[in-house]
Amino acid sequence: MIRCEKFADKKILLIDKDAKKNNDRTWCFWEQEDGFFDKIVFKKWDTISFLSDAYVADMEISPYQYKMIRGIDFYQYCFQEIKRHPTIEFIQADIGDWSYQEKSLSIDLNDIEYHFTNTILFNSIYREENADKKIIKLLQHFKGWIIETKEPAFNPEKATMMDFRISQDNGTSFVYVLPFDEKTALVEYTLFTKQLLQPDEYDEQLELYIKMFLHIEEYKVIEKEFGVIPMTNEKLSFERNGWNIGTAGGQTKGSSGYTFQFIQKQSQQIVDCLVNQNPLSEIPATPKRFRFYDNTLLEILYHNKLPGKEIFTAFFKKNKPQQVLRFLDNESSIKDELKIISSLPTWPFLKAAIKQL
Ligand SMILES: Cc1cc2nc3c(=O)[nH]c(=O)nc-3n(C[C@H](O)[C@H](O)[C@H](O)COP(=O)(O)OP(=O)(O)OC[C@H]3O[C@@H](n4cnc5c(N)ncnc54)[C@H](O)[C@@H]3O)c2cc1C
Repeated sequence: MIRCEKFADKKILLIDKDAKKNNDRTWCFWEQEDGFFDKIVFKKWDTISFLSDAYVADMEISPYQYKMIRGIDFYQYCFQEIKRHPTIEFIQADIGDWSYQEKSLSIDLNDIEYHFTNTILFNSIYREENADKKIIKLLQHFKGWIIETKEPAFNPEKATMMDFRISQDNGTSFVYVLPFDEKTALVEYTLFTKQLLQPDEYDEQLELYIKMFLHIEEYKVIEKEFGVIPMTNEKLSFERNGWNIGTAGGQTKGSSGYTFQFIQKQSQQIVDCLVNQNPLSEIPATPKRFRFYDNTLLEILYHNKLPGKEIFTAFFKKNKPQQVLRFLDNESSIKDELKIISSLPTWPFLKAAIKQL
């Protein structure tokens, strides 16, 4: 991490109700070069697989690599850095209400009110507030098991990004498999639906998948993770009662739930603005055309106009994986986008697009 002298006299207070001592999530993303967090990347893959009844492919994604970071490594790395900077303080506290005006912040911490002046507030607490009927919200929910097998069972050289061969009775569902070595992998059952399942149902599907598709009979579950990511067309803007970052600031891609790299890109823009003393309001919002694509896809998934399995199969079958990854990153060219759009079933997408317009 590079120390910027421009911040030497500035104090940073980081507040979180959680001490971040648990491996509560695993982040996957792709990038072309070594990124800011490369030191803590747990595993990288050059090949990703896509599987559905209609299409199966192992895809080399060079110049991209598919990368995985464990939550616990990320938290430890960040706290080690924080320790080296005496101007950064972390306090563990539950934040209640807060108000922020003219750089003055009043905030409830563990039910005690505090006041700070001359502050810049960054908020990453996501709160569901908007009751607008036009807002649609799907949940991306998933349960993952890290399993260990007795015999070699995985190819650690490739990650399964989406396996749609499983039952779609619960809605758009797929499994991804991230092998760490020949005997250890994270197997994650994921759904894009309106409601969560009962806890047992995730476990049943994971058991079934490991048996039916991975053909593994003997294994030990060594870690579990569960998560929910909101997928919504709600415009969660950066500037809203302070500066909203992460999922709270609209950095979760509405149609895929991917967030990690969008947060990194926006964090860099924030730092650049602060260092160069430019107004934060200059940071551009997500380009409108990407919000339009996301909202169209979300509309289709939400109203079940087409099964997600068919849409993602068309994406990967008819386009180069690099094109799809660029598109999912909001970094595609108009030419890429036309190619991708033309690979999708015309009518349902046209109707959903008109509704968005
Ligand atoms: C299990 C899981 C796996 C994910 N995997 C991926 C992935 O592979 N790739 C990807 O791109 N995205 C992934 N995501 C989505 C996204 O990257 C993560 O949710 C990411 O952590 C979002 O960052 P954030 O800062 O917006 O929110 P968070 O990381 O959730 O941070 C918000 C913080 O606010 C704190 N907080 C909340 N309420 C209060 C309060 N009242 N007082 C004090 N503190 C509070 C929380 O403790 C938390 O630390 C995943 C999400 C989950 C849940």
